[in-house]
Amino acid sequence: MSLIQSISSTLKTWVFKKKLLKFSGRFRQDPEACFYCPEMCRFSCPTAETLKDNTVTPRGKMSLLHLAERGFSAETIAGSEAQRNWYLEQCTGCGRCTEYCVYENDVASNLMNERAKYFSREAVLKAGTGDDAGYVQPAAFSDMLDELRALEGVVLLCEPGRRDWWRAHPKTLDDLGVAEISEVQLPFREWDWGKLADIQIEAIGEALGDCTQIWVESPEAAWFLAKAVKEDRESLSSEVRLVWQRFFALLAAREFGPDVSFHESYHLSRLFPRLGYSIPMYERGLMPFHSGWNSLDCGGEGFYQLAYPGTAREIGVRFLHDLAKDGRALEKIVCQSYACTQHLHGLTDAKVVYWLDELVEGADGSNS
Ligand code: SF4
Ligand code: SF4
Repeated sequence: MSLIQSISSTLKTWVFKKKLLKFSGRFRQDPEACFYCPEMCRFSCPTAETLKDNTVTPRGKMSLLHLAERGFSAETIAGSEAQRNWYLEQCTGCGRCTEYCVYENDVASNLMNERAKYFSREAVLKAGTGDDAGYVQPAAFSDMLDELRALEGVVLLCEPGRRDWWRAHPKTLDDLGVAEISEVQLPFREWDWGKLADIQIEAIGEALGDCTQIWVESPEAAWFLAKAVKEDRESLSSEVRLVWQRFFALLAAREFGPDVSFHESYHLSRLFPRLGYSIPMYERGLMPFHSGWNSLDCGGEGFYQLAYPGTAREIGVRFLHDLAKDGRALEKIVCQSYACTQHLHGLTDAKVVYWLDELVEGADGSNS
């Protein structure tokens, strides 16, 4: 296709999506739009596809919200509050449905907010009963805050278990201008799940108050800091930056052979651009054109793994199975998220490599 044909086709698609397929104004509220939608995003949902369950499609889950807006009780719709919440939990937060939605409805955030309401009601009910209503143990949360409070200046929040790797690569560390490294585990999964109270999010922002710049290795943790802590709270005044933003160009210069697949992070490719953050190589949809890599995105397990590890594993298995069916390269998978390397080990015979390991391989002598 020539460049002119390509531009013309892109314009036609945009006009078709944005102008001709628009919902009537009265259905523009998110849950209502889904309720009346012919479900163009159905195929994209990893939980609905893996569970093979039509009640947990994006539309199915959002319909619960709309029915509540219309006054139907949880008991009437789902049998009980807890059962209704089970449906709301069947979401990895991947944002795929939003990507395919004409309206770009943010299903994941709607579901997360609704779960948060449920869990905060639960917490009130459990208060004073001696049961632990929180998902981050109070002692562990307090220890985490102490560790965050001790940080100052330019810091690196590395993936848990990778501090020694960073210490062994001082040149890479110097490139970031980092003075301190912490491998504290931020409770981003609990937040995604709707189980982190606002007061806890604020406390994290305050604890990071002495940091002037925070480099974050994990896209998931960076998403939590950028969306929950930084954007919605004023207490975090420092800049959150991803390690990927600093080093992506070096990796982009690499040629990956046809037997290598690059497993991108949906946080980087899909979610961050929605916040208006510039993530190099991830202006939506451009990644394969930029790199020529064999790129893929599993749809994610993220916080879902915390809630339903068995189904999360099934999502991973299904994802690999689909790739094999498509004849995709599976000799080696380079993962953009360290968490994904952990998920994929044991699910595939492919060599699973973390992108920073891939990047420094060969250049390591000058790095260490
Ligand atoms: S997210 Fe969009 S495409 Fe999917 S059901 Fe809702 S309105 Fe329809
Ligand atoms: S965000 Fe992902 S998992 Fe959640 S409803 Fe949409 S497609 Fe399904």
